[in-house]
Order: sequence, then C-alpha cells, then structure tokens
Amino acid sequence: MKTRKILLTEQEIPDKWYNIVADMPNKPLPPLHPGTKEPIGPEALAPLFPMELIKQEVSADKWIEIPDEVRFIYSMWRPTPLYRAYGLEKALDTPAKIYYKYEGVSPTGSHKPNTAVAQAYYNKQEGVKKITTETGAGQWGSALSFACNHFDMECEVFMVRLSFDHKPYRKVMMNTWGAKVHASPSDTTEAGRKILEQDPDTTGSLGIAISEAVERAAGSEDTKYALGSVLNHVKLHQTIIGQEAIRQLEKAGDLPDVVIAPFGGGSNFGGLAFPFLRLNFEEGRKIRCIASEPTSCPKLTRGVFRYDFGDTVGMTPLLPMYTLGHNFVPAPIHAGGLRYHGAGVIVSQLLKDQLIEATAHDNLEVFEAGISFARAEGIIPAPEATHGIATAIAEANRCKEEGISRTILFNLCGHGYFDMKAYQDYFEGKIVRHEVTSEEIATSLSELETPEIS
Ligand SMILES: *Cc1c(COP(=O)(O)O)cnc(C)c1O
Repeated sequence: MKTRKILLTEQEIPDKWYNIVADMPNKPLPPLHPGTKEPIGPEALAPLFPMELIKQEVSADKWIEIPDEVRFIYSMWRPTPLYRAYGLEKALDTPAKIYYKYEGVSPTGSHKPNTAVAQAYYNKQEGVKKITTETGAGQWGSALSFACNHFDMECEVFMVRLSFDHKPYRKVMMNTWGAKVHASPSDTTEAGRKILEQDPDTTGSLGIAISEAVERAAGSEDTKYALGSVLNHVKLHQTIIGQEAIRQLEKAGDLPDVVIAPFGGGSNFGGLAFPFLRLNFEEGRKIRCIASEPTSCPKLTRGVFRYDFGDTVGMTPLLPMYTLGHNFVPAPIHAGGLRYHGAGVIVSQLLKDQLIEATAHDNLEVFEAGISFARAEGIIPAPEATHGIATAIAEANRCKEEGISRTILFNLCGHGYFDMKAYQDYFEGKIVRHEVTSEEIATSLSELETPEIS
C-alpha cells in the first residue's frame, strides 16, 4: 500500500525553535516609539509582555530551546501529520506531487496553540495572573483560552464584532476553557467607546480589537497582553511546523520545490516556510516560498513597505512592514484571520529582499478551492486555509500546463468545522467576488504620517 500519512513519534518533536533573523541578509529595522518616532529598546515592551518573550522578540540566536514542559503540552497533538494529497493530485490530473501539513489536529483546530502554549508558559513563569488579547475569526482567542486554562490563568478576549456574530460557537469554546469574551469594539475600553461613537454599526477589525486588549493590559500590574500573529516571537514558536515537515519529507525521500501558506500576519506562513528558507540560506537551495492572501486585504501584493501602527488607535510601536494603513477596514470576508492591515516585520523584510513571494486570491475562488479539496481529501478546511489551497492548485495546474512534475507543500493550518456558516453562504450563492479598489487603498495610505521606506 502507498503511504498517505507521514508520521513522527512524540520523541521526534523538535526541541528548538528556529530564529530566521540569525540568517537574514538584511536584519529587520527597529520598531519606533509611537510618540517620539525614535527607535525603542526591548524595555519599552515590558508593560505588555513577559521578559523572556521580549528577549525572544529581539534575539539574534539561531536556535532557541523549547522548554520541556511546552514540548510535553505539544505532545497532546504534535507531531502533526503530513499528508500526501493523492486525492487532490488525481482530481487535478497533475504531474505535481502535493503534500500538506495538517495543523487542524490541535485541540482548537489550528496552528495557533503552538505559540499560545509557549506564551502562556512564559507569562506563568513570571507571575502573570491574566492575559488579554484580541481575536479575529476566534482561532487565536480559543488557542489562548485553552493555554491559559492549562496554566490556571485568567484570559480576557476582545473578539471582532463580525466574527462574534458569525461564529457564536467559537465564543462558547472560549467560555468552555474559562475565558471572558467581549464583542469588539466594546464599551469597556476608551478605544472601543471612541470607535463606537464614530461608527455605532461597525463590524470591527483586528486593529480595533488590539487597541482594546492593549489598553486593558497596560492598565493593570499583573495583566499582560498576547498577540497571536505578526510579532517575531510568535513566528519563532510556529517554526515547529516547518521543522517537523522537513523531517517528514526526508522520511518520504522528498523535498519541496514550492512551499505555500495562507497569510494573515505571517505566523503559519513563517512557521512552515522559515525552516525551508534555512535550507536556502545554508545549502543554497532554491525552494520557493509563497504567501497567499485575500484580494480584499492585499497588504503584501498591493500594500507599501513603511512604518505603521499595529493597531487602529495608534498605541503600539511603529513597525516597518507591508501595510494597507492602520485605518484600513477590510471587507467582511469569512476568512477573519486574514483581515489584518499589516504583515509581520520579518516577513515584510524577506519580501522586500525578494527572498519570498506573495500572491492573492479572490473570495469566491478560495471557496471553490476549499470545496474541491474537501471532496478530494475529506477534510473541510478553514476559510483562511483555503487561500493556501487555491495557490497550491494554481501551482499544480501550472505543472500540468508545463508538463513538469514539481513537489508542492502547503500548510493546511486549520479545519473549518466551526465555519459551516461560511460554507452555507457559499452554497446559497452569497459569496461574491471582492477586490479593494486602488482608491480605497490610496485613501487609507494617505492617512499615514510616516514616509515609505526605500
Ligand atoms: C489565525 C489564522 C490565520 C492567519 O494568521 P497567520 O498569523 O498569518 O497564520 C490563518 N489560518 C488560520 C486557520 C488561523 O487560525
């Protein structure tokens, strides 16, 4: 029988995270203070994050030890399986070999617990009692709720209004692990009240929810804040994914030509792609790594590389990143986890240096890809994950046109079993094509005070 699932043992869970900063030809530019616009040091982050995570955020060490306790929690669902997509290859009639790493086997159904557990662990070590956060689709909120519950800490989540209304069961899931959940913008913070005054019917955005969660954490001594994407330490923790995938592909006697992942802030993309980029840096390989984003929130393909705030209100440091502008409110697509105006700093620098690629897909196209995948492989993908699938299908079709067999690997970063409303909308013909206009992007960018970085 052919092997469909390539598995590792618990003992093979990697014991270090890979820090790509050590290998980058151009290091990320420093964050700037939101008021003075001067570079800030790590100490500026101390009110929000525990020291150990701040150290990881600015570390240039190539390998960072994973604490045994974190690895042991990982063993609840890791190593995750790597699948050869025989069904999809057949459906596409492609000469390409397609593999996917399946992160949907975690307790919350996505890659997010890989960092949630690590972040909760370091907070616990430093005596933190409560963690606040934002969540878009609810994936990150559930992951942090799960992790905080494990370490007996409180968790308070600001959930983007659109998802709060669309995905009631994600909220119940967070409640099950003991978290408190607000629809954002809420009337429990200054930032939330300010936005509600301007626009009482807003569907919210990640940028607004971040402002709320940061405000709550900054106002209390034993409360810290956690972010589920964008930051360097988040991507660092996710590199467990790509390291496992390399070992699994070695077992299969294969190595990918193309590595693909959906892109919100960059954590599941970085998690899968960075360990493969290490092979490019160290061994001179030419593995293409492609980030896949929605055409309705196209910061990598149509944004500018420039200093911008991570949130809407302008409380976070200014970060050098590809952005659509911190006031950009993306259309209410179902892929809530991809509705963020900016890209992580490391990924932005890599794209600027042309070490990675980016592509965008329309809302309707990704649902078609997701349904083809579900019919060929069985698993119903998260709406975010369908973007990576659409790119993988496009690459596989290209192989067919060119008559070349390439090996394609993509990240199936989450399942869609809490997203049936999205699929229902698709079947009822309610999912429509959507692309932002150049005017919308130009207007949002014109509100930035910071210059473009050349
Ligand atoms: C959060 C999330 C994303 C987007 O975030 P990244 O940091 O870019 O990975 C994508 N897919 C799923 C399933 C998510 O939960």
